Amino acid sequence: MEHGKIIGLGKNYQAHAEEMREILGNVERPVVFLKPPSALLHEPDPIRLPGYSHNVHHELELVVEVGTRCKEVAAAEAWPCIRGYRIGLDLTARDVQQEAKRNGWPWTLGKGFDTAAPISRLYRPEAVRGDIMNARMVLTVNDAVRQDASTADMTLAVPEVIEYLSGFFTLEPGDLIFTGTPAGVAQINPGDELVARIDALGEMTFRVEG
Ligand code: MG
Repeated sequence: MEHGKIIGLGKNYQAHAEEMREILGNVERPVVFLKPPSALLHEPDPIRLPGYSHNVHHELELVVEVGTRCKEVAAAEAWPCIRGYRIGLDLTARDVQQEAKRNGWPWTLGKGFDTAAPISRLYRPEAVRGDIMNARMVLTVNDAVRQDASTADMTLAVPEVIEYLSGFFTLEPGDLIFTGTPAGVAQINPGDELVARIDALGEMTFRVEG
């Protein structure tokens, strides 16, 4: 399937915003950034850590896939814009992001390396089990729980995310939106096995090339 823009939200869960305050600062609304489509990764291909970083973090996220062209959509009208959902990892070279933040540079190199956007298969809205906005999300690394939260904790819920982003960009079919991560982000290392689950959807597994 063809994908266009990959849009990321920073600071869309309060508890993660607290742990990242030094990097993100005090912003009222989520930070918006882009990842290139070359960052996408599908099972069973491995995550490859970039040579220019010494500290890549996992960020478990609900990903929304856009299904229709839309611009300036109100939240109440947003659901028909959605083709479906994916489980996603917004892998982040934290040291590179920190340097960018210090210097006022964009986050692109910290967010955009090859394999920085592992995603699951697409789950159509009718395949969602229960409420996508009240779904437990869990990430384990080598069977240890690192992130355990709920999509209910998102500051902007999915329809509000569509309203917010479509106010800046025309959203197009195949665009992917990484909706932000809850607390618990931490470093991944060669040989690690990451299992990411969103209960309303399913799970996916990725190994870090070692
Ligand atoms: Mg993120």
